[in-house]
Amino acid sequence: MAVDPHSPRFALHEARSWRGDDSGLLGPTPFTRETRDVYAALGGYPARGAWDADLLDRLAGMPGMAALRGRGGAAFPAVTKIRAVAQGAVTAPSPPVVVANGAEGEPLSVKDRYLLRYRPHLVLDGLLTVAAALGAPAAYVYVADAMARASVETALAELAEPDIATTVHVFAAQDTYVAGEETAVVRALTTGIARPTDKPPRPFQVGVRGAPTLVLNVETLACIARAGLPAAPEAGATFLATVSGAGRPPVLYDLPIGLGLGELLREHLGRQDSSLDVLIGGFFGGVIPAWPDLELSHPGVARRGAGLGCGSLHLLESPACPVAVTADVVAFYAAHNAGQCGMCMASSTAVAATLAELGEPHPTRNYAALLPQWAGQLRGRGACAVPDAIAVLLRSLLQHHPQTVMRHLAAGCDRCRWAEGDPRWEHLVVTLPAPAGEPTDRRAAEPVPSGMSAR
Ligand code: SF4
Repeated sequence: MAVDPHSPRFALHEARSWRGDDSGLLGPTPFTRETRDVYAALGGYPARGAWDADLLDRLAGMPGMAALRGRGGAAFPAVTKIRAVAQGAVTAPSPPVVVANGAEGEPLSVKDRYLLRYRPHLVLDGLLTVAAALGAPAAYVYVADAMARASVETALAELAEPDIATTVHVFAAQDTYVAGEETAVVRALTTGIARPTDKPPRPFQVGVRGAPTLVLNVETLACIARAGLPAAPEAGATFLATVSGAGRPPVLYDLPIGLGLGELLREHLGRQDSSLDVLIGGFFGGVIPAWPDLELSHPGVARRGAGLGCGSLHLLESPACPVAVTADVVAFYAAHNAGQCGMCMASSTAVAATLAELGEPHPTRNYAALLPQWAGQLRGRGACAVPDAIAVLLRSLLQHHPQTVMRHLAAGCDRCRWAEGDPRWEHLVVTLPAPAGEPTDRRAAEPVPSGMSAR
């Protein structure tokens, strides 16, 4: 099955701020590209110099900044990350580099592409703010989606001289799952190879061409810029959530952090249904019951043994099967790992094959022992977090769906039977189609680094 980017099942045509707040991350007029003048009229692009020595402290002291966590998936505290680069820059031989990471390889998320296509100035303002706080003479926007890249290039051309004291390069990222992992970002910007590297060193220690490098997700930068706008609430008070599944067209929401899942379900489905499951945090967070009292925040989801990740939620409505969905995601990993860590390559293939076999009525191996064994063994095994993601998925399956797993072991499952070579994960892709008349719909894999442009 090939994904049709315009199919209502996959395509995102709706973006909603919770309770109609139009000062949120989605902007006052969703799906309309915000120009520099419109953004500046909201209070954006305050005048600043190339390096404002006090800006980092002022930034750190802004309401909500201390609690702001990265929005790419890892949820690392943003101020701690920025300060680590500032610290490293004191003794580093070259000045720091700042990167807006908009690669968004996560199939269930479109938020980063949305921001870059429709609110490029909000992202650039955040990037330039952080660059000024660190004294970074060069910054990058790292983006795979061709429309998003064109929008950022137009935005850079719109900027006035006082707006910009840092050279901003736009880099055409490869359209692969791992290209957005932060060591892969650094490696791509340095060598053109978008694959993760072992850690340490981390980018704040040794980054782009050896310089201490700050890689922040584009939504994180948008939160930083928004916190400086006069009408905005505290930094990071809301988050972007791509909500899909349950037979409904996907919707991009700007949600208050800490909202209960039950409230979101009432808004999205018109009902609060405790029989649903949810694949949370993209392909990273696990498959858990859709508890109405689940608090949608990183700590709230972590307390229930899962992860909010990049903020996406894919709802599984009966007869969707949590074992089948887990098998589909692991099959994706088996096909899309970076092909460089033996443990990851072997285990993703083996786990995918095993989960696929659970659809058969007479499994021949000791699956009841194998699955928990893998769930324990795969943690921390690889240059990136893909093995951890598989472990989280297996743990969530065993913890929250033990009876479903046992039924599969005893009798197989028709919904889990797939022919070899089927693109099993394609129903787990959300697309952000181009408006009518635009030449492209999604991402463009262009030669790297030939797609670099600068302002
Ligand atoms: S852990 Fe897997 S996906 Fe990550 S770099 Fe290694 S092979 Fe690639």
